[in-house]
Formats: sequence, C-alpha cells, structure tokens
Amino acid sequence: MSTIRHNWTKEEILDIYNKPLMELMYEAATVHRLHHDPNTVQVSTLLSIKTGGCPEDCGYCPQAARYHTDIEGNDLMTVSHVKAQALRAKASGSSRVCMGAAWRNVKDGPEFDQVLEMVRTINKLEMEVCCTLGMVTENQAQRLAEAGLYAYNHNLDSSEEYYKEVISTRGYEDRLETIDNVRKTNVTVCSGGIIGMGEKESDRAGMLVALSTLNPQPESVPINALVAVEGTPLENQKPVSIWDMIRMVATTRIVMPEAQVRLSAGRTEMSQEGQAMCFFSGANSIFAGDKLLTTPNPDVNEDMKLFDVLGLNPQKPFIKKMQPTSIEAKDSQFHALGEKPKWTRPDHKIERNEEAKQKAKVLK
Ligand code: SF4
Repeated sequence: MSTIRHNWTKEEILDIYNKPLMELMYEAATVHRLHHDPNTVQVSTLLSIKTGGCPEDCGYCPQAARYHTDIEGNDLMTVSHVKAQALRAKASGSSRVCMGAAWRNVKDGPEFDQVLEMVRTINKLEMEVCCTLGMVTENQAQRLAEAGLYAYNHNLDSSEEYYKEVISTRGYEDRLETIDNVRKTNVTVCSGGIIGMGEKESDRAGMLVALSTLNPQPESVPINALVAVEGTPLENQKPVSIWDMIRMVATTRIVMPEAQVRLSAGRTEMSQEGQAMCFFSGANSIFAGDKLLTTPNPDVNEDMKLFDVLGLNPQKPFIKKMQPTSIEAKDSQFHALGEKPKWTRPDHKIERNEEAKQKAKVLK
C-alpha cells in the first residue's frame, strides 16, 4: 500500500535515488501502477506567449535579456494567435496548453487582462490551461482562477542552497509564496526543476524534499534536463546522463505518487529507449511540439510514433479534476488591486552569471 507522505527527509530521498537501478525502477513502476494508468501519458503543448527580454538572471535561460543568445524577442501574442495555436495543439493530441511569458512577475494592467482572455479562450476549447508568468499575488491567482485556469507553473528549479548559485535576482521564498498564493485558489500547482546545472545529488534530493513536503503536493512535477544554450552562464555544462534522468523521474514518482511527472526539456538528447524507461519509471506527461519555449523538442509525429510502439495513449483533458468554469471579465468578483508587491531581490554575486553578462556586453 502506498500513502502520501509529507515528511520525506533528504537522507531518505537520497537512499531511494541511489538504489540499484533495476530495484529503483521496479519500485517506481509499482507505485506508478497503484496511482495511474501506466499506458496513459498526458501530452501538453508549451506556448511562449511573450519571448525574451526578461529582467531576471536565471543562469540556464536564453530569455534573460542580460545574456547574449540568438533568441528573437516577441511582444505578447494576440488572443486570436493563441487560439489558433491551441486549436492546432488539440488537433495533434494535446490536452493541455501551457502559456509561458518571460516576466519576473505578473503586473496588473492591459497585458495581464489579455492573458486572462487567453485563459478563457483556451478553456472554452475544452483544453486544460496552464500559465507560467512568474511571481503572482493571491489576487492575481484568484483572477486567473476565475478566468478558468487549470494549473499554474512555478518551478523551484533546484534545492534552496543551489538556487543561490543559479539565480540572484529573486529568492526561493518568493517561489514558495507564489505556490502558496496559487494554493489559495482552486488552480492546481505545477512545480519541478532542472537537473544538470552542476548541482549535487543532495541538491536534487533537496528539491524533492521542498516539493514533497508541500501539503498538498504539486499535482504536476516537471523534471527538466538542462539544455545548455550558448551565451548563457551554463553554456558549458555537460548533458546529464539518461541514467540520472531515470533515477530522478523514478525518485519523484516514489515520493510524489499522485503527481503527474513530466518529462520536460532535454528530450531531444534522449533515445526513444531512454524515454521508454522514464515512462516505465513513472513519467506520465510530455511536452509536444518542436520547441519548448525556445529550446528544441522532438517533433510531435515522432512522439506519436513512439506512443504507437509503446502502446501508450494520450490522456484526455480533465481526468484528474473537473473543468473550471470561465467567468467573463465583466462578471468578475476580483478586480485589479494595483498591488506593488515587494518580491525579494537578493542580488548576490554569481561569478559565472557576471561573466556571461560582461561577455554579452562586449558582443552586443
Ligand atoms: S527562466 Fe523565466 S524568469 Fe528566468 S530569465 Fe528565463 S524567462 Fe526570465
């Protein structure tokens, strides 16, 4: 029997992570079968609704304005463009659209109103809608919920200790506060992280402690393998091995049995056999489409061929939770408060981020 625990320790999680691989995969697959249909995998489409020009200094991100990458920035997409993309995603088997904007935090105003309209539009297409827009206040989370948002993504990225080595422009506690604000609504939480940023195994375990001790645990946990993009501070990181990815997926499955574990960035570096072992070990969601925000991703037809080979079926929308109702802007109970929240800005020095910034200045 498997129960949800909220008191996992780093040592316990490390013990699981370092089990002999066959034993780890078997245990994860067993937990997976107790909580999910092992032949169903959710297909989500990630849409970058506002690309580049971000003021943050996330060391892995090509969208940070301070680094020199070849990302083309775009203003906020129109609602009709988003609708067209969502319809295309639905036709190719996606049940969820995740919209990402390269913002530090949500600001009340016309752009946020436009995002709320996008949420209403996609929800009416009977697809799950997720947003990742940076930090949000409780009022903003409530307005997203009213518009019909199904999930909000806000990754913890790594352990609290290693987070400070990757990002200096915001604090871990703000991430947790945003998750808490989302939890005050009926929107589900999507939160995970990235491996391969130079962290230790204990940091991977630390991130899983932070996520699994949330009560309730996140409904969705993306596990990304770093895609090292030229021009970012992490450009020289070696790719993570598939074995590390399988261990991370399996451990996540064991400590968060109910969560939808998402095999996210870095799939282009994985063989189909490697991906199959991740599915066996408890991954039950992928992102479809040839781009993941700005980094490459396998072609959707390739994914569907792999599903055929493995006998996997795409998950239908609203299996885990009912479709929310979209309330029109004019009937909304929650209005913009014009808040100016003081999100943390630690601004400590991270040598490799500084170097990448200086190099970018010279190149620009
Ligand atoms: S990860 Fe998000 S917040 Fe960080 S730089 Fe990229 S777009 Fe900005």
